[in-house]
Amino acid sequence: MPTVKAYGAQAATSPVAPLNIERREPKPNDVQIDILFCGVCHSDLHTVRNEWGGTIYPCVPGHEIVGRVTKVGSDVKNHKAGDLAGVGCMVDSCRECQSCKEGLEQYCEKGMVGTYNGQERDGSGYTFGGYSKQIVVHQDFVLKISDKLPLEGVAPLLCAGITTYSPLRHWKIEKGDKVGIVGLGGLGHMGVKLAVSFGAEVTMLSHSPSKEQDAKKLGAHKFVLTSDKEQVKNVNNYFDFILDTVSADHDYNRYLNMLNTNGVMTCVGAPPSPAQVPAFTLIMKRRSLAGSLIGGIPETQEMLDYCAEHNIVSDVEVINIKDIEQSYERMLKGDVRYRFVIDMATL
Ligand code: NAP
Ligand code: ZN
Ligand code: ZN
Repeated sequence: MPTVKAYGAQAATSPVAPLNIERREPKPNDVQIDILFCGVCHSDLHTVRNEWGGTIYPCVPGHEIVGRVTKVGSDVKNHKAGDLAGVGCMVDSCRECQSCKEGLEQYCEKGMVGTYNGQERDGSGYTFGGYSKQIVVHQDFVLKISDKLPLEGVAPLLCAGITTYSPLRHWKIEKGDKVGIVGLGGLGHMGVKLAVSFGAEVTMLSHSPSKEQDAKKLGAHKFVLTSDKEQVKNVNNYFDFILDTVSADHDYNRYLNMLNTNGVMTCVGAPPSPAQVPAFTLIMKRRSLAGSLIGGIPETQEMLDYCAEHNIVSDVEVINIKDIEQSYERMLKGDVRYRFVIDMATL
């Protein structure tokens, strides 16, 4: 098996550092991709530091992958050497359960295989992600990438983009809806751009006063500083839909109380500790609290095509892979404008 250069963590307490991994030779259904850019998602950090539990080491994170196809297996139909290609958060699923048949592979009843820290379905081991020079993925999980947009800005669409696109579509956000996006990070800034493009009235709900200008530049119509009681009071019982992207433990009730009658708050942020929600917060206005996981492969392609058509990309800071630990520390401080993306030429 070919040896490939990568960056990964050897333990929850060790830094992400250079290592070598093995990738399989492409099988008949496989696409081999040279990785050009890989976005840095907060889930990478949760996983390498084992904040959710269950991390297998060494752990090579990265699931916002854009690259160029170098080789394909004999049964591959839609990709060929030289094409641009993308890989998001999943590399396999059962294909047979109801969710898979509906194109919702992320909810596969047998469990989807994550791009990193996932168990291969054939028992051959566990997966390594995009902080590496090359990846080999089954054709069913490889996305088509337009050459119209800057690739570094496209990479984060593979997780941050689809994770916000999918719930906004599922809850049918459209013109006239009042939408709140909580947390202006990687997911949050894509949530703002997409909700605005769907015609909603979008409010950024942030705990960082310094982000007000940027939120407006991204297209948000309003900005609410969530540490300011007066500003929060103004939006109580206000929103039809709230998308919560916050990565750290926080009080859900503050945001649930901002929902109007029949309002829905969907969590995509995945803080390490459970939240406390009194039934009355929901009961009194028939509010719903929901969750959403990335998006299926057909919807991911739809989102990529939509973004190419509407000229939507992520605002990125391209980094050298050697600076990954510093980038994690900055991400923890909320100091990202608004996604770090690794230039894989630096590996
Ligand atoms: P990120 O870039 O670090 O953004 C998180 C944002 O949350 C920060 O920019 C900050 O925004 C806000 N925040 C951070 N700490 C906070 C605190 N203590 N109190 C209030 N707000 C705080 O992270 P990301 O990559 O967007 O990921 C966000 C979360 O989504 C992570 O938990 C990640 O694992 C999860 N995720 C879930 C899915 C899914 O499928 N559901 C997919 C991808 C990622 P402000 O400064 O504006 O307040
Ligand atoms: Zn992610
Ligand atoms: Zn399935």
